Amino acid sequence: MSAAANVSSWDPRLPAPAAGDLAHCVACGLCLPHCPTYRLTGRETASPRGRIAAMRAVDEGRAEVDGAFRYMMDECLACRACEAACPSGVPFGRMVEAARAQAEPGRDPRSRALRRAGLAWLLPRRRLLVAMAAGLGASQALGLDRLVPRRLAGAAPRVSLRELRRPLPRAQGRGPTAALLTGCVMDVAFRPVHRATLRALARSGWRAVVPGGGGCCGALSMHHGYPEAARRMARDRIPELEGADVVVVNSAGCSAHMRTWGELLADDPAWAERAHRVAERVRDVADMPFATEPRRLGAVAVHDACHHLHAQGIGATPRAMLRAAGAEVVEVADAGRCCGAAGLYSVLEPELSSELRAQKARAIAATGAPVVAVANPGCALQIAAGLRDIGSPTRVAHPVELI
Ligand code: SF4
Ligand code: SF4
Repeated sequence: MSAAANVSSWDPRLPAPAAGDLAHCVACGLCLPHCPTYRLTGRETASPRGRIAAMRAVDEGRAEVDGAFRYMMDECLACRACEAACPSGVPFGRMVEAARAQAEPGRDPRSRALRRAGLAWLLPRRRLLVAMAAGLGASQALGLDRLVPRRLAGAAPRVSLRELRRPLPRAQGRGPTAALLTGCVMDVAFRPVHRATLRALARSGWRAVVPGGGGCCGALSMHHGYPEAARRMARDRIPELEGADVVVVNSAGCSAHMRTWGELLADDPAWAERAHRVAERVRDVADMPFATEPRRLGAVAVHDACHHLHAQGIGATPRAMLRAAGAEVVEVADAGRCCGAAGLYSVLEPELSSELRAQKARAIAATGAPVVAVANPGCALQIAAGLRDIGSPTRVAHPVELI
């Protein structure tokens, strides 16, 4: 059952899981074999059922929001594999987001200040992000990134200063309007994917436009416990996107989040209807029926991002698109298991993240395919690092760049 099916009991202003959401869980445990953190640790406290039990204990006043509770929520990837597997329709994604917001005030002051600076203050400031990306790109060009710890340097995207200076075309093609969400990290580190998307849209009968302004949709803030910041960013983006027939999004976590904008702003009379209309038009790039021309792509392994597969049920479209473009699609074993990227997880929970990264890299390398199609920026960075670590020659490419 999708999160949208459970809107009645949810209030995004409340920084706590809704009692109605908690009540859905019957503790059957059918989600456990699907949970990457439970599979790695074997701990009930690292399972969906254990996390929900902890949320319920707090809700019923039997436990406090303490360090142990916070750790259980932080250790979750928010991959939503449990949600997709749950026969009772537990909307786990929004529950863990709410539990993180609930746990945020009790963090130690330094960690809280850092998180607030990044998730609530920096992300909405596009110009500052671009300036910081330029600094990162310059330091990478000079090799200075080798001086910082490997896990931090590896988590940072490569920034091309040349790309950063080249603006995206404002409009191309003819037809109904498709507005591209340029976003935050995508905008500074994955502009070639944006350019390929605009070309693919124009070739597929759309007038592809890049709205003025642009910036973060608020997904990262929502995932990490800052719903108010996420609501502010939704209000910033909606006026830029609402004239379009479809809103195309190049990051799985962002498209999944933007599809909930109607619920996120449901209590705000000035925005509810507008948010709902834009949310209905959001479409992930991996789910766009692009026109393709047959070519010889050869064997292409396909990676499913969790926020495609589990949160939005997207899996068939990218495979069909690649096949139409002449690819022999190769499946990766245990495809539904998270690669460990999960927003900021690789920085905040490096040990579990690197284990998941290694597992995913080995599974992809075992396909023998020379290329793996990855339609999500966080996964692309994580998988490329994992393949490098094991010395695999398989390269990572975005499916839109491949077609
Ligand atoms: S989340 Fe769903 S599958 Fe998991 S224990 Fe609860 S009811 Fe069962
Ligand atoms: S969201 Fe992912 S990591 Fe978190 S409890 Fe569910 S399956 Fe486990």
